[in-house]
Amino acid sequence: MDPLFSTVATTEGFGTWRVRRLDANRTDLFGDTKVVPPSPNLMSSTHICDAATPEEMTQYHADDEVTSAKDYPEVTGPLNNPPSVTSDDFALAFDIDGVFIKGGQPIPEAIKAMRYINGENPYGIKVPYIFLTNGGGKSEKERCLDLSRQLDYEVSPGQFICGHTPMRDMAERYETVLVVGGEGEKCRIVAQDYGFKNVITPGDIIKTRHDTTPFRKLTDDEYKNSRVLDLNNTQIEAIFVFADSRDWAGDQQIILDCLMTQQGHLGRRSSCHNEGPPVFFSHNDVVWSTSHEYSRIGMGALRASLEALYHAITNKELTTIAFGKPQMGTFQFATRLLQQWRSEYLGIDKPPATVYFVGDTPESDIRGTNEFDKISDLEWYSILVKTGVYQDGETPNVKPKMICDNIYDAVKFAIEREHEKGPQQNQTANPQDFKNGSLKN
Ligand SMILES: [Mg+2]
Repeated sequence: MDPLFSTVATTEGFGTWRVRRLDANRTDLFGDTKVVPPSPNLMSSTHICDAATPEEMTQYHADDEVTSAKDYPEVTGPLNNPPSVTSDDFALAFDIDGVFIKGGQPIPEAIKAMRYINGENPYGIKVPYIFLTNGGGKSEKERCLDLSRQLDYEVSPGQFICGHTPMRDMAERYETVLVVGGEGEKCRIVAQDYGFKNVITPGDIIKTRHDTTPFRKLTDDEYKNSRVLDLNNTQIEAIFVFADSRDWAGDQQIILDCLMTQQGHLGRRSSCHNEGPPVFFSHNDVVWSTSHEYSRIGMGALRASLEALYHAITNKELTTIAFGKPQMGTFQFATRLLQQWRSEYLGIDKPPATVYFVGDTPESDIRGTNEFDKISDLEWYSILVKTGVYQDGETPNVKPKMICDNIYDAVKFAIEREHEKGPQQNQTANPQDFKNGSLKN
């Protein structure tokens, strides 16, 4: 073993680096019913909403192109000859779409990259990692199951943040909410799982008043799943765009209707048009990478459209709030998730010196990483890959620390850069050094 990957931890001692069953993994992290967050302290303290501002426009997202879990075979077991050491000097954080997944399928280098960071490398080390995506539209558990099967490696909800994950905290503040976007009832179910007590969808409003959207009719399934409301006694306290809208015209009409009420009371029209409920978007990516050769418009485009429409109709400015990358709160959230994962599953109590973030979108991934590097105690090192929004030959408007062809080259670069730093101050740990999940000094 090269001494440079010194502060290492053998996996034998605590054996939870690769939990074989996803259910066991989830239960271990969250108990029987909770999927996310990884632990209460990850979700509290610095409230991510406080850091979310509406200024920055970005790209991408994906979710529903991901094939359903049932279409994939079971995840294979761990490597035949798993390595025995895990680096604690550095960690990896990844965007997903345009990095590992494109058009619902893994990019060619994705599985090789996963194997590399899980020990199939010349140094015989595993590197701790998390995923930080702006995508959403389904539960974190469901998304992890998809990703695990696509990448042929188990991904735990404890390693995963998606665009709407931070909205969970908002359930304490708002009871009756309008949830927009995604397929069918999925986002209603996610919102209810987050703790929102009364989740209303555009389908409910259309079912109640079919002339709300003149050109949109509910499908049979939508009609069956939607609820009839008492519009005169319903108050929308907040509007959440959880995932990409499938019907921009209808959804914008309904959001505008809510915004033009008195404090969200659906039966009371405002005369001043500045007393509607707040609007939150799970991210602000204007475009994202799909199987199409050119990037497609995303949630940030809907946000821009909604704000422009509101101004055109009311002559008032509409201020909305977006979560996700590049907001600093999202990276603070990721830091806590990474630390929790390292501590609970790897027995590493100290923070890594460097976190390498690999993304495909300069405006969100690279901007967020570079900005967070300025305020973080850790080094956050941005790596841009060419497999998504950013394409070879372009000049990124936010400069990364490194550009790599793909995710495999990116993880190789990160590990080799650590190698070149030379031996660290720490020593190799043996299994018996781990007691109660912590590294004994
Ligand atoms: Mg991306």
